[in-house]
Amino acid sequence: MKKILILGGTTEARQLAEKLVEDFRVTLSLAGRTESPVAQGVPVRSGGFGGADGLAAYLREAGIDLLIDATHPYAAQISANAAQASRLTGVPILALRRPGWKPVDGDRWTQVDTTGDAVHALGSTPRRAFLALGRQEVAAFEAAPQHHYVIRSVDRVEPKLAVPDATYLLARGPFREADERALLEEHRIDVVVSKNSGGEATYGKIAAARALGIEVVMVRRPFLPEVPSTETVDELAALVDKFWVDHLLDPVAERGV
Ligand code: NAP
Repeated sequence: MKKILILGGTTEARQLAEKLVEDFRVTLSLAGRTESPVAQGVPVRSGGFGGADGLAAYLREAGIDLLIDATHPYAAQISANAAQASRLTGVPILALRRPGWKPVDGDRWTQVDTTGDAVHALGSTPRRAFLALGRQEVAAFEAAPQHHYVIRSVDRVEPKLAVPDATYLLARGPFREADERALLEEHRIDVVVSKNSGGEATYGKIAAARALGIEVVMVRRPFLPEVPSTETVDELAALVDKFWVDHLLDPVAERGV
């Protein structure tokens, strides 16, 4: 059985692993940051590899035949490492690249490049901001303590931000638009700060902001390496099958026989 390493940490990675595990020896890799990750239903390894070289060594030692990058679109470092490890080892790579959201009529988006730029985009006048960002990213908002923040994260934000006025919510998606709308209204939010994660699970807040006429400060996606990719789990599973059907990964085909 061919061996596949899936770099995960996303719902799609788990779904893909569950699909591929019937025909391949699949290992799902997690960064190991979330305190209580959801059950994955396939063999899991956890923790960093030690950069691109470490990942390359893992691919060689574990005899991996195919590497799949199904990490979150903002996890730019591991995606860069994956592309580099593939180049170093010759292990083919495919990626699942969830498409980003596009603004539609009624959206009030201010697009910025970094979380630091998002802090500036809030301006100097105190506002009530909903931060739908990871716990690592929210620290940047200490630079603007004049705002009231509602911060939602999967894991507890520790230490708390050094700002006088912040409310912390713990929750894991998916989030429905109606619930997001109620949340924005309850906390009298006038600006949402979000990553352009794409997908359905976290789009509710964007749709709710549009319905309420609330500005969204949208942090643009980071640069990701160009590797063969698809946008959905089903397309990627089909591409994996095609790889082997075409004998692209067949050792006989590789020898040019
Ligand atoms: P990152 O900045 O791209 O990666 C930092 C380091 O974490 C990597 O260099 C690697 O360490 C390790 N790492 C990341 N993903 C890994 C994986 N799947 N398996 C093993 N090691 C991994 O990543 P991040 O933005 O901190 O995200 C960490 C994880 O959370 C990823 O699995 C990602 O899919 C998931 N996630 C991220 C976001 C987000 O907004 N960034 C949102 C939802 C889920 P070494 O160099 O030591 O190998």
